[in-house]
Amino acid sequence: MRRTYTGSCHCGAVRFEADLDLELGTSRCNCSICVRGRFWKAIVPDEDFRLLGGEDALSEYRFGSGAIRHRFCSRCGVKPFGRGEMPELGGVFHAVNVACLEGIDPRELDALAVEPQDGREDRQDRAPAFTSYL
Ligand SMILES: [Zn+2]
Repeated sequence: MRRTYTGSCHCGAVRFEADLDLELGTSRCNCSICVRGRFWKAIVPDEDFRLLGGEDALSEYRFGSGAIRHRFCSRCGVKPFGRGEMPELGGVFHAVNVACLEGIDPRELDALAVEPQDGREDRQDRAPAFTSYL
């Protein structure tokens, strides 16, 4: 069910709001950065994402082509979301960290479908051979 979620980093400096339907899918990826942070994401179009506070606390990390802005709190180190732009994802999007969303019952989190993605091979359309560590 589509609803408005609030989310935050650990220290609370960064706060955001996103309209999304978690039942449409979440994913984990084995690329070099997602695997290190065990990033659990849901994709949100730009128009459904609002930064409520903490722009001053946000740092940004880019690598490779630099297309994705990996944003993290400079105080607590948590990465609440990243921002990118890809035509196949409808233009500008935010990859929201599901673990940073607030007010979700653990049973609801447990029931979410998680699609494993083979980002290491640049094949987000398929699952990698091994997924339990993601
Ligand atoms: Zn923080």
